[in-house]
Amino acid sequence: MHGLSVRDRTQELRVDRERLGQRMRELARFGANQAGGIDRVAFGDADVAARGWVSGLMDAAGLDVTIDAAGNLIGRRPGTVQGALPLVLGSHIDSVPGGGNFDGQVGSMGAVEVAATLADARTRHPLEFVIFPNEEGGKTGSRALAGKVEPRELDLVTASGYTIGDGLRRIGGDPDRLGSVLRPPGSIRAFLELHVEQGAVLDTDGQDIGVVEGIVGIMRWNVVVEGMTNHAGTTPMDRRRDAMVAAARFVDMVYTTVLDMPGTQVATVGRLVAEPGAPNVIPGRVTASLEIRDLSMDRIGEIFGEVRARADAIGSVSGTSFSFDRFYVSEAAPTDPHIRDVIETSARSLGLTTRRMPSGAGHDAQSMAHLGPVGMIFIPSLQGISHAPEEHTDPGDVANGADVLLLTLLALDRS
Ligand SMILES: [Zn+2]
Repeated sequence: MHGLSVRDRTQELRVDRERLGQRMRELARFGANQAGGIDRVAFGDADVAARGWVSGLMDAAGLDVTIDAAGNLIGRRPGTVQGALPLVLGSHIDSVPGGGNFDGQVGSMGAVEVAATLADARTRHPLEFVIFPNEEGGKTGSRALAGKVEPRELDLVTASGYTIGDGLRRIGGDPDRLGSVLRPPGSIRAFLELHVEQGAVLDTDGQDIGVVEGIVGIMRWNVVVEGMTNHAGTTPMDRRRDAMVAAARFVDMVYTTVLDMPGTQVATVGRLVAEPGAPNVIPGRVTASLEIRDLSMDRIGEIFGEVRARADAIGSVSGTSFSFDRFYVSEAAPTDPHIRDVIETSARSLGLTTRRMPSGAGHDAQSMAHLGPVGMIFIPSLQGISHAPEEHTDPGDVANGADVLLLTLLALDRS
């Protein structure tokens, strides 16, 4: 019965809440700014120093620490079953300029805490704990693992002032050997990421854990409304073909269309430019943007179809025409249905409440979905504030999230 007793003991394991809280506070010192947040942009001095510090924590947890050519900081430990695929945990510690202390950091410290908690336990699968570089500036580390980084990206200048290529050299990577980090589909048992919600759903509804259904897909269009430019004083109101008025109706229509349809889809008109743009000229042309996000790409297509039909109707009553040019597509990345169930069961076994929800923001898990099944665990963001110094998550929620991460990992290791 030796095997059973080992199993029972791992199921009773919990993270050290005190140590996790202490490490969250220590990490917050790297790049701390006057506003109470952090300026720890990828490849800057604070990022480099923080990565060195995290590397030390991984080492102390008994992990074999390496940095791959894409700058991924990886701590590994072997499993007991020969040839078993690795279970991978991770997130990022770089921030946007003027960022907060929780985005990325919760998942990074949560993963390192799981490693420390398991230091004396054995797992069937090898474990990898990863800090992905430059998440905020293009998810360079995780996308390189999926073979998605284009060579020309390496010349892009990041918020640190360094190009991505030079930045990777600064953190121990080698941009000339980026292809060497590629991991094919089916090369991992699973990837798990703990992250703050960055929205207000969990906080508002008083729920503990978000079980992420997937990272939403995004489509964006340039929308051109054509009317007729004319004199603002001499053209009677009933003879105008005012592109601005049609565009205003369009903006309102997008909002109501998306609200009227069931589901969690969102749509935004974030840009509106009227031409010629003078106070005494009826605008003959308006250029707008349209963005739609949903977990299903087909659903985005359906919503767009409805928006387009209603735009045509606006055009016909206002003497204008609408044209749509799609210029951006980001594929949705659904999480693994079985892992969702395991996260839910793990959370409930800890007495935590759960809610299934999409992630409206992009994450490293999106790239990791190309390698194998992924799962994401959300914890509440106070008032949904993120990418700002006011970003906050209760230390108790951080610890709850880390415990769910730990139990989910152990459950997947047993299966
Ligand atoms: Zn993040």
